Amino acid sequence: MKSATEYFSGSEPILTIDPPLQYARRDANPLGTVFNVCGVTIGGPEVVVMAGPCAVESEEQILATARAVKASGAKVLRGGAYKPRTSPYSFQGMREDGLKLLSQAREETGLAVVTEVMDARHIDLVVQHADILQIGSRNMQNFTLLEEVGKCSKPILLKRGMSATIEEYLQAAEYVMKGGNRRLILCERGIRTFEPSTRNTLDLNAVPMLRRHTHLPVIVDPSHGTGHWWMVPYLSCAAVAAGADGLLIEVHSNPQEALSDGPQSLSPDGFDSLMQELRAVARAVGRE
Ligand code: PEP
Ligand code: MN
Repeated sequence: MKSATEYFSGSEPILTIDPPLQYARRDANPLGTVFNVCGVTIGGPEVVVMAGPCAVESEEQILATARAVKASGAKVLRGGAYKPRTSPYSFQGMREDGLKLLSQAREETGLAVVTEVMDARHIDLVVQHADILQIGSRNMQNFTLLEEVGKCSKPILLKRGMSATIEEYLQAAEYVMKGGNRRLILCERGIRTFEPSTRNTLDLNAVPMLRRHTHLPVIVDPSHGTGHWWMVPYLSCAAVAAGADGLLIEVHSNPQEALSDGPQSLSPDGFDSLMQELRAVARAVGRE
């Protein structure tokens, strides 16, 4: 199979975006954006796996999960300290204490850290503890937040809005880049459809479509995309075959006890098997 770069550079766009994208458009950087964060190359040949719990819950939980995902080959630790929950009565995250635990996990394991920032008032604090700032699906069109993280010195992981078109998603990316931040990762995490058996419908069409229209790295979150831990390995392999540059996967040291998203979280053993399967798929499509 052609490498993603060979395949997508020079492709005519399918979407006509008006006014046109200036920074995010494919031909603004035809060879594709590649950058380094804490020694991890994003957008290069290696499929970068970011893994960890939905939320940071305790020192034991985050350290046990971080050690496990590191041993299995993950390069970035995920974990929410500020959680966007549908109900105000659900666990909202450990907030600043959670951020401190993420820093502790980085120190111990050497993993880079990605965590969500929900509010522009928290950016300065989150920047002190995170290597990559995540903008969640619910905030993809929070334009003032996008402008603020556009001024930030850390890379941004921008998730697709659950009801956002590809065009709206690319325009959201443009907001961040226009602010000056060129280190942006896109993440397909499933969209809302009429299908109730899965939490969302993982739109793998988005991977080649985004790659055709933008030079930015594209990763996939099969955990939120399906809502079922047992589906995650299948969709992870499919995402890599579709050209994804990385994966964002929920892993919990004890999924049954998770305070959020337990049903879609892999155990450390499940994650380890997935990583082995993934290596074969990555090799088959010319990735590492
Ligand atoms: C998450 O990654 O934990 C999360 C809240 O995801 P999303 O914004 O895609 O729902
Ligand atoms: Mn989650």
